[in-house]
Amino acid sequence: MPEETVARGGGASQKTDLPAGKDNLAHGNTVLHQCPACQARDIVQLFYVKDHLVSGREFPVMRCRSCGMGWTADPPPESEAGSYYASEEYISHTDRRQSLSDYLYHLARSFMLGRKYKIVERVTGKQQGMLLDIGSGTGYFAAFMKKRGWEVTGIEVNDSAREYSIEKSGINARSPGEIKNIPSGSADCITFWHVLEHLYDPAGWLEEVGRILTGEGKCIIAMPNFSSSDADWFRNRWAALDVPRHLWHFTPRAFRKFVSGRGFKVEKIAALPLDLFYISALSYRNQNKSLPLLRGLLTGGLLAIRSGFRKEKASSLVYVLSGKE
Ligand SMILES: [Zn+2]
Repeated sequence: MPEETVARGGGASQKTDLPAGKDNLAHGNTVLHQCPACQARDIVQLFYVKDHLVSGREFPVMRCRSCGMGWTADPPPESEAGSYYASEEYISHTDRRQSLSDYLYHLARSFMLGRKYKIVERVTGKQQGMLLDIGSGTGYFAAFMKKRGWEVTGIEVNDSAREYSIEKSGINARSPGEIKNIPSGSADCITFWHVLEHLYDPAGWLEEVGRILTGEGKCIIAMPNFSSSDADWFRNRWAALDVPRHLWHFTPRAFRKFVSGRGFKVEKIAALPLDLFYISALSYRNQNKSLPLLRGLLTGGLLAIRSGFRKEKASSLVYVLSGKE
């Protein structure tokens, strides 16, 4: 680990005087010396988090003291990231239904497809149009939208998931490098459903969003909420940290800063209510607790009540961005 990173177990503040630059954001072998959302240099190492899915390795999670933005320090370089998705359990890519978490995931996904569809139609004000789904995975959402009259292009890095979506649902799915070939001003809606937190260069992707959206187009970004009631409760055992696959841990405040510095405006924020129960159950399962589903449901219910069902404490949030000014 680079020596600039605060020593393990410490809660000390990390301040550096190294020059800032865009390169600091695309992180893999680099240490961030500035908050990627607000550029503050007052950074603390919050805790270590275990990768429960693939490697068993622990990764430090940093937090900006100024805006609350979090990120995973010392992640694998992007060229090696694929191996951290190699688990058979990474079901958004493999589509199997064996364990409890698979079952919950698929149950939630069925429910969520209808909800996502409604969000797209509501925020765009359109019944059909051109939709670009970034991180389209096995293509379920893309197929759902295609059936309802939308023209859909998917972008997916995982070869087998992408090919599956093409074969099974006839999705126009492409690899990330092909984003450059999508015409400017062509998409009415661009969606990132639990994807932006995985991207090594989220700012670069937002740049492409600004180029590809029509003037009236909307970008919909769903992500875990690092300032949620369940994040506070589970701390370094919060399953939505999902290191090192999740590189960024946004809060509403940090995300507003992150996008406003890049010419976007957060028009609306909505909660994804089911994620609280799914993430709580998964957090217990990762700790090998008995009856994780039951525990997750109970804890989720109590946390929702305790937080007064406030949107800004919801486990996952959907941000609606208006096109670049
Ligand atoms: Zn910050």
